[in-house]
Amino acid sequence: MSFLRQTSFLTTVADLRQLPADCDREVAFAGRSNAGKSSAINTLVGHTRLAFVSKTPGRTQHLNFFAVGDGRCCLVDLPGYGYAKAPEVVRNTFAALIGPYLQRRRQLAGLILIMDSRHPLTPLDRQLLDWFSPTGRPLHVLLSKADKLTRQAQAKTLREVRAALADLSPESSVQLFSSLKKTGVEAASEVIGRWLGVAEVEKREPPVKGMTGG
Ligand code: GDP
Repeated sequence: MSFLRQTSFLTTVADLRQLPADCDREVAFAGRSNAGKSSAINTLVGHTRLAFVSKTPGRTQHLNFFAVGDGRCCLVDLPGYGYAKAPEVVRNTFAALIGPYLQRRRQLAGLILIMDSRHPLTPLDRQLLDWFSPTGRPLHVLLSKADKLTRQAQAKTLREVRAALADLSPESSVQLFSSLKKTGVEAASEVIGRWLGVAEVEKREPPVKGMTGG
């Protein structure tokens, strides 16, 4: 069974001074609102509703922590950005919470950036990368909702995003992902397991040609 299946809600944090002390290693998830971040986390942990706690009132602009296994490793759901109705809230959250967390959190092993495969690399995604890339830590992009693209369009998007990332963030990789079809789950779990220092033992899906790269 995938190590990510033993994931549970740990805590919600609105201030960087409240970050939990127990996590030795963390993998953070970022993305524009509606990119499919909650669905991707839920799919990876095999739990239909876990990451939706991050969407409950009062928590949407917080960092939400999920403990993996014995709790020494955590997944961190960062606030979704780009919510059109409240640009100043988004700016504040970026400046006060997301940016400093990405730049200074010692335990952060890597960042999973979820981008809708139909609208990758929006200006706010690029801003996030401006913050994160100088840290030299690894980045892995999930091009979400890949089921909405034809095979040809999937291959084209993968190629284009990979080329753009080579300039924006040298320590990066990219893959297609679909929570609906459960494609790309094994490849993403393998990356997270590597970053957290946990071996991904289960092999659920046969490798899909052209799904990964970078
Ligand atoms: P978040 O705001 O980034 O957490 O996004 P959600 O996970 O809540 O997803 C936003 C919308 O996209 C919802 O209506 C989801 O049902 C839909 N969605 C998420 N993942 C997929 C996917 O893999 N395929 C399709 N077709 N829709 C998806």
